[in-house]
Amino acid sequence: MPLAIDRDQKIVFAHRTNFVGKPTGPSTASWDYKGEEHVIVRPDDGQPAKTWQVKCKECGKSLEFTVHGVAATRRRQARWRAIAWTGLAVLIAAVAGCFVIGGAALAVLIPAAIIGSATGYYVGGIASDEMGIRGHGAGMPIVAKHSVTLVESRPAEFEELVCEKCGHEEPYRWGSHLRKGFAERQYREAKARLDAHTCRPK
Ligand SMILES: [Zn+2]
Ligand SMILES: [Zn+2]
Repeated sequence: MPLAIDRDQKIVFAHRTNFVGKPTGPSTASWDYKGEEHVIVRPDDGQPAKTWQVKCKECGKSLEFTVHGVAATRRRQARWRAIAWTGLAVLIAAVAGCFVIGGAALAVLIPAAIIGSATGYYVGGIASDEMGIRGHGAGMPIVAKHSVTLVESRPAEFEELVCEKCGHEEPYRWGSHLRKGFAERQYREAKARLDAHTCRPK
């Protein structure tokens, strides 16, 4: 799912607070980030990328990021996707070649298949992470000291569920990374909980 790119881009800029990843499973680690929201205004289409400066509240470091406009970011996403698809095409052609040609050609075809699939896999990941904000490892598939994460603006169909009488808010999960049916069910269930709740006394 490509990220939602807005001209007034809401992001969370965060500082990683643990040096060594905490093990959360046999081969995964989790990282704690502490951050705050910022709004980055992207340059107009046709304008060159601009620099966004931020001072980290955690470590006091000043950092600079390169920010691309909306159209330029979409082009970057499309370019990464094209490279990923090329990798996939190389993989398919190489695997097909292994069966059709075989023999001595395998020495070339097998590495080509590996390179093709690796390109498709990694570049595909970069394509879906491309947010047009670059620097200090932002948008790259690495664990960086500082991170920039896009904050989606809430679409109209996923309104905030707040009780008008007591101000109680019923939270639920929504977002473009969730399957639409799943998010809609979360919304309906949360709405039912809100309708059934007992108002807190003021
Ligand atoms: Zn920092
Ligand atoms: Zn209420």
